[in-house]
Amino acid sequence: MSLIKLNQKAYEFNLDQIANKTGNFDRIICVFKDNAYGHGATLLAPIAKNKGINFIAVKNEQEANELKDFFDSILILSHRPNGNENLNFIYALNDIDLIEKFKPLSRIHLKIDTNMHRNGIKFQDLDKAYDSILKYNLKLEGVFTHFSSADNIDDFYFKQKNNFKKVKEWFYKKCDEKLIFHSFNSAALFNSQIPEDEYCRVGLVQFGYGALHLKKVLSLYAHKLSQRILKAGESIGYSNAYTTLKDLNIATYDLGYGDGLFRYDAKGELRLANGKKILGKMSMDSFSCEDSGDEICVFDDASVWANFFNTIDYEILVKLHPGIKRIII
Ligand SMILES: *Cc1c(COP(=O)(O)O)cnc(C)c1O
Repeated sequence: MSLIKLNQKAYEFNLDQIANKTGNFDRIICVFKDNAYGHGATLLAPIAKNKGINFIAVKNEQEANELKDFFDSILILSHRPNGNENLNFIYALNDIDLIEKFKPLSRIHLKIDTNMHRNGIKFQDLDKAYDSILKYNLKLEGVFTHFSSADNIDDFYFKQKNNFKKVKEWFYKKCDEKLIFHSFNSAALFNSQIPEDEYCRVGLVQFGYGALHLKKVLSLYAHKLSQRILKAGESIGYSNAYTTLKDLNIATYDLGYGDGLFRYDAKGELRLANGKKILGKMSMDSFSCEDSGDEICVFDDASVWANFFNTIDYEILVKLHPGIKRIII
């Protein structure tokens, strides 16, 4: 049985670090999309709630429904309006042409395109969008944007910040209601001294990545299916891609690319948490290595796999199959 262990102390520690940055827990929107970045949303939700988190962001209504009992406010980031919106949830409004599709009285956070050009309304369309929101009787509660390069803090980042500042000023003049503004993701928050907005949307740092002093929450384990002694010169797995140089005590463990891992194809050295190499090509539901006992930690730091496969920590984590059993330790 493969297994994900989630370290409660580490998660609580990271939330405390985030609250140190924002000033308090009331300014945090925990991003729980995609099963809390592959960790296990319903397991981490009660911990976040007990810590004082009231506001989360998710991908879609299905995720929102799974978590609605834990949090007062849930922002749905990737929703296509259809007239059936749940008036308890908050929806990101991503496209000016879809305003009329929302159910009247839907709660909205307006996404602004400050030049990332992914989602949102352009500054020059603000008047039109605002009129439309009034016309279709939507409840505008917040305004937000997203940075394309907060991890580098380059010129583009400061331009986007400046654009968002203009947006805020526009709203301060235009409407009397209190709106919530948010723009900072993990990188923006941890790369700055004081966040300017009411809220910050933090995903990755919750889980211990993206800032050095944080603690990794997730570790991935596999369990032994079988064991054998290979003689020097014998091969293991598909295509016989690995051949032993000496007699080796080999075990096969119950985790493979079917569980959401990238497929190791026996090229290069990919090491498990105990330093042992994966030997031969990974199979769909198993891999082999030197016998390391009944339980083996595949990784307790996804960046080992991210570096090996030339991708980002996010992708290694989020791909972990939701069917893998998860426990809190
Ligand atoms: C995923 C996401 C975040 C969180 O980003 P991190 O880099 O994980 O902090 C914030 N805002 C939006 C709109 C997102 O899609």
